[in-house]
Amino acid sequence: MDTHSTDHPRDRSGSAPASCPVRPVRVLVVEDEPDLAEVLSGALRYEGFQVRTAGDAATALALAREFRPDAVVLDWMLPDADGLQVLRGLRAERAAVCVLFLTARDAVEDRIAGITAGADDYVTKPFSLQEVLARLRGLLRRAGMARQPDDGEPIVVGDLVMHEEAREVTRGGQVVELSRTEFELLRFLMRNPRRVLSKAQILDSVWSYDFGGRAHVVELYVSYLRKKIDAGRTPMIHTVRGVGYVLRAEPR
Ligand code: CA
Repeated sequence: MDTHSTDHPRDRSGSAPASCPVRPVRVLVVEDEPDLAEVLSGALRYEGFQVRTAGDAATALALAREFRPDAVVLDWMLPDADGLQVLRGLRAERAAVCVLFLTARDAVEDRIAGITAGADDYVTKPFSLQEVLARLRGLLRRAGMARQPDDGEPIVVGDLVMHEEAREVTRGGQVVELSRTEFELLRFLMRNPRRVLSKAQILDSVWSYDFGGRAHVVELYVSYLRKKIDAGRTPMIHTVRGVGYVLRAEPR
């Protein structure tokens, strides 16, 4: 199973607690100005992200397929396409990817187009690196992908409560005992409530595997989780036929 050891090094100096994601967050930097690409990727690497860079749209889309980024920092003006085209291509490839785009300060129409097309946030050029990092962390946090060992707040979805650091889960006040993998799976679901997650997304985020037809692993663990979370209660884990699963508190 450990065919991707270079993708999730386990020797990362031990600073990340056990409750953190098992692999570094992957960021693709798409920027045609080499100096800027260098500065951005350097800063992101320093912050612990796994980074790849692309200088044009075609390379960006090819890399998105191969590298499977969690987030993309996307310059809006590229030599072979505009940000809108790249954004659509990225979303087609990886629906849940976080996209932060970079645009000129006076390019109001580009910003509107970007947000309308589903980019998550933007930063105007010239930007401060601190702002790019802060916005990127904000996106990843909202997407449930940030490492936040100092965040003591429980995750709450309906009557389901997860204390990440204590690795404790309760539903309706009753403690639910989970295995490590069940816990990680539930954490991913709880960090993305009401969002339909494909089996590929779940596998990628919880197990760090390439999909490669391992849907049965996800199905198996979802069935375990249902027995512990949902049995005898109002179901929260719902199957979306042909797509994946969604966690929600309120019945539809
Ligand atoms: Ca540019």
